[in-house]
Amino acid sequence: MLVELGDRVSVLPGGVNIGVLRGDNHRCVLIDAGLNETSAKKALKAVRQAGGKVVAILTTHAHADHFGGNAAVVKRTGARVYAPAFDEAVLRYPLLQPMTLFAGADPLETLRGNFLLADPSPVDEVVQPGSLLVEGIEVEVVTLAGHSPNQVGYLVDGVFFCADVVLPESVLAKYKIPYLCSVTDHLGALDTAEAVACQVAVPGHGEQVESLAGLVRANRALVLEVMERVSFLAREPVTAEGILTDLLNYYAAAVTDAPSFYLLQPTVYAFLSHLHRQGRLTHEVRHGQSLWVAC
Ligand SMILES: [Zn+2]
Repeated sequence: MLVELGDRVSVLPGGVNIGVLRGDNHRCVLIDAGLNETSAKKALKAVRQAGGKVVAILTTHAHADHFGGNAAVVKRTGARVYAPAFDEAVLRYPLLQPMTLFAGADPLETLRGNFLLADPSPVDEVVQPGSLLVEGIEVEVVTLAGHSPNQVGYLVDGVFFCADVVLPESVLAKYKIPYLCSVTDHLGALDTAEAVACQVAVPGHGEQVESLAGLVRANRALVLEVMERVSFLAREPVTAEGILTDLLNYYAAAVTDAPSFYLLQPTVYAFLSHLHRQGRLTHEVRHGQSLWVAC
């Protein structure tokens, strides 16, 4: 069931929240299409029941749970797909996602499940930050890079679809260490998201909120806490994998399979490059080991 958030803006709550914008002549635009064909069909049905038809998808970022439904929507409707620069490459070549997690190599079969390997999506328009006109609707594209290389949020009529720049506190409590591509960019994105003037913010997961302040605070605090822990662990020379092992034990994170382990491997690297950039860590290769040491 669509939840109305404005005259021409609504959301279909789900595992991934799917935004629906209504243009002229019942022409509708989705914001993300969810994980797969099932979520895509649900969105198409909800729009049809509201008397609309889907003609476009605005993708927030290149994670399979957000764009995995694109192919099914395009197949059924011929919708045009909009996606942010850089991330759009992953929509077209989705193997890049599990490949990136697996150090750039041919990924294990267990990393090729639904959540990490989506069906390929066409990309018709590469979006840039700033204003975008889609089906007569003015959309402000907001850069929220960090969670993915070039994630964006979409602001329409005071409703801010802010993707995964913030995760709900329940998710933070469960996974402890949130997946990140760039800690440097993500800290900037949290500031950006908090400063966006909106009446309602709709994160990619969880409930919509009137203000992002609380979620931004919780997400920022966790990132800073993990960062201090990484820095502490590097008081003696340590490998990235050693850091990951310690973090998992320290936070008693329930990571027992390849997908959840390999999602966190780049996350550790995101903290390492951030701390290195800040001059808080040095890196050296010694005795065949890649070692990190706090300054
Ligand atoms: Zn994501």
